[in-house]
Amino acid sequence: MSTDLSKNAIRIREEVRIAAEKANRDPSEITIVAVSKTFERALMDEAYQLGFRVFGESRVQEIRQKCEQPLPEGAALNMIGPLQTNKIRQLLPYVNVLETVDRPRLIEALAKQLENLQSMLDVMMQVNISGEGQKSGVSQEGASALMKEILTVERLRPTGLMTMAPYDADESTLRRVFGGLKTLRDQLQESHGIALPALSMGMSGDFEIAIAEGSTHIRIGRGLFGRR
Ligand SMILES: *Cc1c(COP(=O)(O)O)cnc(C)c1O
Repeated sequence: MSTDLSKNAIRIREEVRIAAEKANRDPSEITIVAVSKTFERALMDEAYQLGFRVFGESRVQEIRQKCEQPLPEGAALNMIGPLQTNKIRQLLPYVNVLETVDRPRLIEALAKQLENLQSMLDVMMQVNISGEGQKSGVSQEGASALMKEILTVERLRPTGLMTMAPYDADESTLRRVFGGLKTLRDQLQESHGIALPALSMGMSGDFEIAIAEGSTHIRIGRGLFGRR
């Protein structure tokens, strides 16, 4: 067992607990998604031993390699990277939640592949709240129309929203981005009459503010596994 990983796990969990307490939230509402991208499969198994059950990966090829041996009982894999439509078929056998639904063409292609497999998929809609040009995700203005498209596909179960904040943003920007995702979630729940419990927001550098703003899934890579 890598001592760094177990030390990091203890530290992150403590920081999550403190951030949750400050926000008057129950830490058990917050899932730490262990972002294992670029790290080898053995480290995922170590993290599993330490109690982590949700893993975040961003490349289909890497997922296929790491999951050649099935993940241990009860482990789940969240896809957090951009997905090309021609990779959907390769991804579906391994993924539990696709966090990066961001465009109509992807929804259409998912519908087709899920129909072939006769299966369902949990998805989150990725929203570019910060408005940065190079970030993926649907625009805030386009979010309601895209959710409507997701809801036309019976095989897709939307569970919530995901966003990425700009790197090195100051606290007020982070609050605006994370608070903006929550507000949008509340609006979409209301206007579409659905439940969207998941708010996937916050990474190693900004999860405390994300928790203060209502995050339910923080995606932690470096903070657990070290530098990439
Ligand atoms: C890599 C990645 C993370 C984890 O980032 P860290 O800074 O290593 O915690 C979270 N979310 C997404 C979408 C990522 O690509």
